[in-house]
Amino acid sequence: MHDTITAIATASGEAGIGIIRISGPDAGPILQKIFRYRSGNTMKELVPRRMIYGMIVEPDGHEIDEAMVVFMPAPHTYTGEDVTEIQCHGSAIALRRILSLVMDCGAAPAERGEFTKRAFLNGRIDLSQAEAVIDVIQARSRAGSDAAVAQLSGRLSERIREIRKNMADLIADIAVRIEYPEEDLEEIAYQTILKSLHSIMEDIEALADTAQTGRVLKDGMRISIVGRPNVGKSSLMNALLQEDRAIVTDIPGTTRDTIEEYADLGGIPVRLTDTAGIRDSEDTIERIGIERSREAIETADLVILMTDRSQILTEEDRAIFPLLKDKRCIVVMNKSDREAVLDQASILEASGVPADTPVIVMSAVSRDGIRELIDEIHRFVYGGEIKMEQDIMIADARHEQLLKEAAGSLEDARFMLENGEALDFAESDIRTAWMLLGEITGESVTDDIVNEIFSRFCLGK
Ligand code: GDP
Repeated sequence: MHDTITAIATASGEAGIGIIRISGPDAGPILQKIFRYRSGNTMKELVPRRMIYGMIVEPDGHEIDEAMVVFMPAPHTYTGEDVTEIQCHGSAIALRRILSLVMDCGAAPAERGEFTKRAFLNGRIDLSQAEAVIDVIQARSRAGSDAAVAQLSGRLSERIREIRKNMADLIADIAVRIEYPEEDLEEIAYQTILKSLHSIMEDIEALADTAQTGRVLKDGMRISIVGRPNVGKSSLMNALLQEDRAIVTDIPGTTRDTIEEYADLGGIPVRLTDTAGIRDSEDTIERIGIERSREAIETADLVILMTDRSQILTEEDRAIFPLLKDKRCIVVMNKSDREAVLDQASILEASGVPADTPVIVMSAVSRDGIRELIDEIHRFVYGGEIKMEQDIMIADARHEQLLKEAAGSLEDARFMLENGEALDFAESDIRTAWMLLGEITGESVTDDIVNEIFSRFCLGK
């Protein structure tokens, strides 16, 4: 049996209410010790899952704060253990005093993520669901939040379990063949096994293919706006940020000369880098900020190359073009409110970007064309289709890595089978892949990994 743990579950700072959570065998008895009804009576019986109003009092009868309390018996609780939650006023002082009172009664301070870790260890959720809890809390956009909630509900786990089940069947199949090799069945056996293996590989690949979208939804898509001075980069940045009704945060640690902002563009989180801050120098090279543009381009998932449609291309424009090699780009022809001097074909040709690179004609000042730009950004995220409806998605680098390793093992197995190697080699590779997928759900995972994952949580979760 675990100890009883406690923590403040709400964020610090002034708020309407604050919540203290207690989990473990003493969750109920501790509540009975510190709670008094308004009448002054003690809580003689624990009433499951009912909110009760009263006072939290110190042993000498001193009232700390009013509270609504609830006791939830195991096993249908967040941790799978007995849980008490105390809602008091969201005052740092009241919360800390109640917390220390609870600890005086014998509860230990919870470690980061310990409540969720217990939920995992008690088998209430699996590892990928536990990881989704962090993603739900840290989601920075509507789509990112939806994807995390879908993972929390266990849809990814279900899919992984299906694939593992198919692998286990295949392993069993191969084991039978190894045990009873019947000469005349051999060829058919190989073909059946190869076919199953192929279909499993396709399933894994399909999942791994969602990782790009998943990562973007979770961490934000890095978009760098590059172009020579005065084409309108800052203006575009501002226009995009104004489209965003809820700017989440400024990203801390932005470099001195580039500006980075976080925006939720129609549900997709983006990190916009504007290299505009680099124009205040006398030196031309410095002025265009080639080095910084290079950096901004390298780290970007998507580059917006800005040009001024009302002027001919200059040396400064051309200095940037070679940096775009192999990058996914959208070309923006800005200042559409002015007379056009440049045409689309000549920019595409001069810049050397692929001929099918989207080109948006817009005005950062009048905001004409900005919707088209945002739609184009969406197309990058969703690979052509706009599907806000959440499929199962890989959003975690750990999961992506495991899928890739599993795919590699299966590839080895296929190679063995196709080259008529002994069946046991193939079986061992498939078994490795089966273990790797088990690390996603936590069915086969080491304590180190589990500890590492939960250390990323906040206190009280
Ligand atoms: P940056 O150096 O690339 O960041 O360019 P800015 O955003 O600072 O813009 C340079 C100048 O161009 C400013 O005077 C803007 O008001 C102007 N500008 C930006 N976008 C447009 C546009 O779409 N139309 C017009 N007419 N002017 C624009």
